[in-house]
Amino acid sequence: MENMEAIFGSNVFNDAVMQQHLPKDIYRALRKTIDDGRHLDPSIAGAVAHAMKEWAISKGVTHYTHWFQPLSGTTAEKHDAFITPVSGGRVIESFSGSELVRGEPDASSFPSGGLRSTFEARGYTAWDPTSYAFIKDGVLCIPTAFCSYGGEALDKKTPLLRSMEALSRQAVRVLRLFGGDARRVIATVGPEQEYFLIDKKVWAQRKDLIFTGRTLFGARPPKGQELDDHYFGAIKPRVLAFMRELNQELWKLGILAKTEHNEAAPAQHEMAPIYAPVNVSTDHNQLTMEMMRKVADRHGLVCLLAEKPFAGVNGSGKHNNWSMTTDTGVNLLEPGDSPYDSAQFLLFLVAVIKAVDEHQDLLRVSVSGAGNDHRLGGFEAPPAIISMFLGDELTDILDALESGAAYAGHEKQEMAIGVHTLPKFPRDNTDRNRTSPFAFTGNKFEFRSLGASASVADCNTVINTGVADALMGFADELEQAQDFQAALHDLIVREIRAHRRIIFNGNGYSVQWRQEAKARGLLELPTTVDALPALIRPQNIELFARHKVLNEAELHARYEIQLEHYAKIITIEAETMLTMARREILPAVLRSEGELALSAKRVKDYAPVFSTLPQEKLLARVNLAASRLSDGIETLNSAVVNIPRAQSAYDRAAYMRDTVLQAMAALRAAADELETIIDHKDWPFPTYAELLFSI
Ligand code: ADP
Ligand code: MG
Repeated sequence: MENMEAIFGSNVFNDAVMQQHLPKDIYRALRKTIDDGRHLDPSIAGAVAHAMKEWAISKGVTHYTHWFQPLSGTTAEKHDAFITPVSGGRVIESFSGSELVRGEPDASSFPSGGLRSTFEARGYTAWDPTSYAFIKDGVLCIPTAFCSYGGEALDKKTPLLRSMEALSRQAVRVLRLFGGDARRVIATVGPEQEYFLIDKKVWAQRKDLIFTGRTLFGARPPKGQELDDHYFGAIKPRVLAFMRELNQELWKLGILAKTEHNEAAPAQHEMAPIYAPVNVSTDHNQLTMEMMRKVADRHGLVCLLAEKPFAGVNGSGKHNNWSMTTDTGVNLLEPGDSPYDSAQFLLFLVAVIKAVDEHQDLLRVSVSGAGNDHRLGGFEAPPAIISMFLGDELTDILDALESGAAYAGHEKQEMAIGVHTLPKFPRDNTDRNRTSPFAFTGNKFEFRSLGASASVADCNTVINTGVADALMGFADELEQAQDFQAALHDLIVREIRAHRRIIFNGNGYSVQWRQEAKARGLLELPTTVDALPALIRPQNIELFARHKVLNEAELHARYEIQLEHYAKIITIEAETMLTMARREILPAVLRSEGELALSAKRVKDYAPVFSTLPQEKLLARVNLAASRLSDGIETLNSAVVNIPRAQSAYDRAAYMRDTVLQAMAALRAAADELETIIDHKDWPFPTYAELLFSI
């Protein structure tokens, strides 16, 4: 194994490399662009491109690509060689400043939701210098944002960058009120990534896994996760070998892979990196998922990132740890030592509470998708209701502030007006509530509803924008205040009172919580189709417009694309189920049934007095389930045939949810019952027991 310090960032054009390869003045100009989050000065682009190319070539690179994140939720790259013909039939390697700064992929096949009319098929990509260029598979990758010629965002990165700007702008205003001199505030994220690993040979025998990434059939195995023996258990050698190599690959890319462990379900694992600015962690998380798949393949394994690959077994999420840090290195969600710091902390905390309460719908949208719908609310993941956990101590402090009563915590302080009397906040919030979607964990919030395969861009765009909006209101008000401390106190009390319904420290998986949440007026949006219309709700259009994150056309495009995507995913799943049921399951069941009948007949032929009751009983069950299977196939088939293709994307998506998913569930129930009663050797593909315990 290679030395970590030696390989870390070896494939990244990072600060150290820049300093080494760029002339001093160019380096300084580029550094300033990065630190201020501004656009690159065109006059230095040529020199930067040249240095980047020389560095890449020294590492055997021949191609470059503008690497971007289209609305399909994955990443896209098109490789161009550094090749330029010169006289004499020779070529030289070249890479200009304009090639670095801007690319023009023929992007007509990427989803645009109608933003880019076909006569204007080309979008353009623009370098985001705050995310370092890197080398992957021998190609120099330049992280870029992807826009139409009209300037509309066609990707997930552009609104994320805009939301970071919005948050920074408003947070700096608030900090100034406390006498702070930070020039920028950066949203930071550490995404914990869950995944399953299964043996490739077993995987290859299941069309559902191949085509959809999750199982569409499968009865529960005799042993699941009930013994809790997998979580944090000893890691098996094959998995460990995978993790070792994954870490190496991630470290080379400058990704701070830190923690690895087994998760709750058999064959489930997790990797957590150290946090980074959210645009960087978005890139890094995409690369992590890509590397997980690639490295698994080298080890004869398959990495499943679907949210719910196995029914009845825990699904996979991505815990989005979010906070804000100033350019002077202060974490704004870290409770301060002095009362003055505490007041500032409290104001930022209240801004997050307000944002989450006011934008429950957008947060739910930001974690939506056909796959995650199977996971949310499944008694293993946060419900499809957004609420916040603060822990008892912090909640008590807020209660005391709100009521003006004495805080009965460790320090027994009066919670009277003004920042000077605020108590010290608990520093280490070690009590954990795993059932809460949005939990304060001491110095950051952990949003746990995100699905394993999702980009972290969407949910952080919403969090950044929502918090920016709350901070903007606070700054507007406090900047006008005659008596800052009194105004601050009033504001905090008022906001706690207005938004305390979102705070829930109890068991988020319980049925009682669903009822209570309803009584509190919190939103429950069980499916993607219920959630998506929030994207085009007037107040949300205004919110995103106010902070210049997304305009109305961009939001409409996203709404359409996500509805379409949902319908497409379910169509593929339904068709895969039909293929498997018709061509694999039903033939196997009929063969098995025939054998049972033959067996009964043979026994009777041999000696009419012998009992054939076992065969008959089983035959009756198989026969009944087989007709349910056959009915299930017909019903699902007609559900697919009748997809309302001519209607609106919303109607189509609603039909998928109400009709196709129901038919899929009925077909699955019949097949899963048959799996448990017919001869194991006759079952046409590996079962859960073989999939989950394949390594
Ligand atoms: P756990 O939640 O398992 O106890 P940690 O609290 O150590 O683990 O951190 C989980 C994740 O939160 C890690 O990815 C870590 O880098 C990230 N994290 C820690 N501090 C911050 C922060 N200020 N901003 C964003 N993410 C953070
Ligand atoms: Mg955690």
